Amino acid sequence: MKSKLFVIGKPIRHSQSPIIHNFWIEKYSLNANYDKLEIETKEIQNLIRDLRKDKIRGFNVTIPYKRIMIDFVDELEESSLKSKAVNTVYKVKDKIIGANTDGIGFISSLQKDLNFHFDSNTNVMCIGAGGAAYGIVSSLINFNPKIIKIINRTESSGVKLIEHFKKFTGSKKTFEANHMGYKPDYHIDLLINCTSCGMNGKNPLDVDLSSMKKKSMVYDLVYKPTMTPLMKVAREEKLNYTNGFYMLARQAAESFYRWFGVMPKDSHIKEVIRILKKND
Ligand code: NAP
Repeated sequence: MKSKLFVIGKPIRHSQSPIIHNFWIEKYSLNANYDKLEIETKEIQNLIRDLRKDKIRGFNVTIPYKRIMIDFVDELEESSLKSKAVNTVYKVKDKIIGANTDGIGFISSLQKDLNFHFDSNTNVMCIGAGGAAYGIVSSLINFNPKIIKIINRTESSGVKLIEHFKKFTGSKKTFEANHMGYKPDYHIDLLINCTSCGMNGKNPLDVDLSSMKKKSMVYDLVYKPTMTPLMKVAREEKLNYTNGFYMLARQAAESFYRWFGVMPKDSHIKEVIRILKKND
């Protein structure tokens, strides 16, 4: 019988995850099927029970359940401990494990798809302080950038994020929080839009890109539309830019590996990105 996998959330109809996972399931001739499942909080326990009994193989978690999923699993990977979120649930022996593959997916997309590499002089500006920002900063801190600046509409949430991560980095890491519209007096090498601004082309992010050098990267986590409003501004400024498809595919590959023990080949990851772009 086919093993079942899901992405759970509410709403869930927008999810691209079934396209990605079913593509790889077919490529690697696995006897499985991945589907969307819109559920209420009270139904999560049933899903965990099904995983315990091997009735399902595992699942992804999206808005609004990434944070509360922490309470449903037996163990957390370090990625989830640091980011306070779970986007992947899988079973090893009799333990249900929660992981957050967003951060590693983001870093791996930068390195493998976008040829962006960190060093101790890299200045990063992250706009947003919600779930995605926590996932990304949890991985960013492993690469020791010089500055991680957090800009958020609600400045106090940015400060809270920084306080959380200082527990892991100590005081040596230069974290700074500021309000939207803040313009740094130093250059930014990597600017990441971790807000939902620009989604469906609406509510574009109001950001000044003039402090970025021509080789800098503007990374928009939004991927609908494929060419987001922020990417258009970056193009005008002649900067490097991307939407969130690379991260989406790379974080999915990390989930896939946890369920099947198979890491999709780079060529199959790139193939899936081409399909996502075509479907837009
Ligand atoms: P979230 O937890 O709801 O956080 C939303 C963030 O956006 C908060 O920082 C919020 O600021 C900010 N924001 C919302 N509306 C705003 C506005 N009008 N002006 C300024 N800031 C605004 O959501 P999330 O899970 O972090 O997701 C954020 C985005 O990342 C979404 O578009 C999501 O689809 C995308 N994402 C992409 C991937 C990928 O693989 N490409 C993975 C994860 C997420 P306040 O604190 O002030 O409310």
